[in-house]
Amino acid sequence: MKKIYALCLFTFLAFSFNGCDSSKEKLDPEIEGYTKGIINDVIDVPEVSAIEYSTAGLPIYQSNPDAPVSIYVAYDGGDYRSSSQGNFILSGYNRNGSPDTFDEQEQADIVRSLEYMAHYFAMFDVNVTTIEEVRDASKAWSSIIVTEDHSGGRANKGAFGTYPWSKAYCGSSTLTSSDKSRRIAHEIGHTFSLEHSGIWNNGEFYKWEDWPQWSNGDRAYGTIMGGGGKGQRNGWSNDAYPKDSDGGKQNTMNIIRQKIRSVDSKSNGWRKDDFLDNEKFYLYDNKSGGGYRQGILGSPDDVDVFTFAWGGGKFKLSAGAVSVSAALLDVGVFNKDNQQVATEGESNLPAGDYTIEIRSNGDYGAIGTYQVAILTN
Ligand SMILES: [Zn+2]
Repeated sequence: MKKIYALCLFTFLAFSFNGCDSSKEKLDPEIEGYTKGIINDVIDVPEVSAIEYSTAGLPIYQSNPDAPVSIYVAYDGGDYRSSSQGNFILSGYNRNGSPDTFDEQEQADIVRSLEYMAHYFAMFDVNVTTIEEVRDASKAWSSIIVTEDHSGGRANKGAFGTYPWSKAYCGSSTLTSSDKSRRIAHEIGHTFSLEHSGIWNNGEFYKWEDWPQWSNGDRAYGTIMGGGGKGQRNGWSNDAYPKDSDGGKQNTMNIIRQKIRSVDSKSNGWRKDDFLDNEKFYLYDNKSGGGYRQGILGSPDDVDVFTFAWGGGKFKLSAGAVSVSAALLDVGVFNKDNQQVATEGESNLPAGDYTIEIRSNGDYGAIGTYQVAILTN
């Protein structure tokens, strides 16, 4: 029996408006109230394809089907082989006491976990999948088992390849804790040969907390190869790492990209661009005069451009990371003469054609999934 889990609400619910809260500002009385809205060139929201499930109830999932490399996450257990620990059969994810089937709650946990994983790896030319045949058809992969048998996680460093078993596992609590499946991404990072983010001393790792935000208690940001934040924004970092020849840094994104390029010379390791830089894209109709769109900054240089015809008046532009994405955005609104006339927040623009340009703010790892929206009331 197949069950269908509709994701229709996901794009709305998962959208977090980052860094654009101007609600405390007093409104200019002359422009109070939002007006006309986008005319003509918004498009209807396309149907979101539903996720299908195996007969056991496991989500059949792919985040980026055309990618040469896959990240295979086994929530149903499997064969774990480790050069140091030996070989084991590990159980999968199981909350309901029935290890061979997945009920609705377990399915929802797994789908959410997969979506987090898709955000963590959104900028790479990789496909997060639960389908073994898809894994085996890709050029190379990393595999991990999410298990009830152990807490924490473990990975054989550099286990990226074409092994028919997993060389990494992760305790299942990462699915239901504030960690938000970051630990799965962390162990996969090790299989791509990454070391820990933190403080090193005489070539030995000894401390996680090395990033400035943590010293004042702000754990909103956590590096994936570090000890984790609070799962609000998790990203790849350029870490101090004395064993590396590259200026004493571990350039985590480039190390992953090199692995991808090593099995596919046609890929540069970054995700293929979802909104090509020199093409026009329209926003989806939000049914109240404005529009929105979700996209991915798939490399540090990616620029996504959306166009709209404005009826004139006041609106609010919001743009920010979706879910656990580490994207930090630089957003500009330009008129027909290519002059910047607005940015995030409230604006009042005369009728005319405008474009929104979205790029990373330039911080390391500040790319990935985002959503942009024009709100007219
Ligand atoms: Zn680790």
